Amino acid sequence: MALVNPMYFIKKAQECGIAIASFNVHNLETIQAVVEGAAEENCPVIIQTTPGTLKHAGIPYIGAMVKAASEQVDIPIALHVDHCKSFETIMQCIRYGYTSVMIDSAHLPYEENIEMVKKVVECARSVGVAVEGELGRIGGVEEDLTVDEKTASFTVPSQAKDFVEKTGLDTLAVAIGTAHGEYKGVPDLDFERLEKIRELVALPLVLHGASGVPDHQIKASLERGISKINIATELKIPMARAIQEVFKNNPKENDPRNYMGAARSAVKEVVRQKIRLCNGTDFASRL
Ligand SMILES: [Zn+2]
Repeated sequence: MALVNPMYFIKKAQECGIAIASFNVHNLETIQAVVEGAAEENCPVIIQTTPGTLKHAGIPYIGAMVKAASEQVDIPIALHVDHCKSFETIMQCIRYGYTSVMIDSAHLPYEENIEMVKKVVECARSVGVAVEGELGRIGGVEEDLTVDEKTASFTVPSQAKDFVEKTGLDTLAVAIGTAHGEYKGVPDLDFERLEKIRELVALPLVLHGASGVPDHQIKASLERGISKINIATELKIPMARAIQEVFKNNPKENDPRNYMGAARSAVKEVVRQKIRLCNGTDFASRL
């Protein structure tokens, strides 16, 4: 199928209490792993890239590879840019076929943040592209999740309502205790906060930093209105391990098809597990 605007299936997922798993990819093999894994689960999927990956691979390469991959299968696929601070990069992504964008202007003062998001929504919507925004700050890789830091960066429910109304966003990423990268302890999500946000904000909510969150907390977040779950680190780790294993068994291995093939198989298995965790198996037949 051709790439689609993800709102086509995120809205339905929200109605059904399902979350769409969204996977960060980096190269050909990770794109293939996500597309093949999602097709085997018969579930729509979002492929996403950070600006760092765009710098590494180039927007035209990613756009062309994901377009080619989506044409091989019958499930709806969306291509999304994750945490993009630059308006120009967002426009370039759209130019190369992205169907969804995340504008991350949380570093700006609140009113300027709103203006920036509004501008992106106006441009993207006029060409049928979805927009995700974020309110609150989700911690980074090196941050310790101490209580003070957590509280300071959490999404404030009343502000989320105001932000969504003023910007016209399609989806909202919430900061409720997840962090990007690997967790040092077990994360403890603030479900009470999520429930308050859900009461005030009708649009689909997004959980970032879902790698390493225990399955029961993912399930609980689905029950409280999370409709998109971002997975990045949990694909990177099995990928690296699979490659390490190949070289451990054969230090002289030099065929990229062998070690990258092993990486692709390992990533695909996690993709399938995450889709199952999000209740996504066979969701494509319900669209
Ligand atoms: Zn994120």
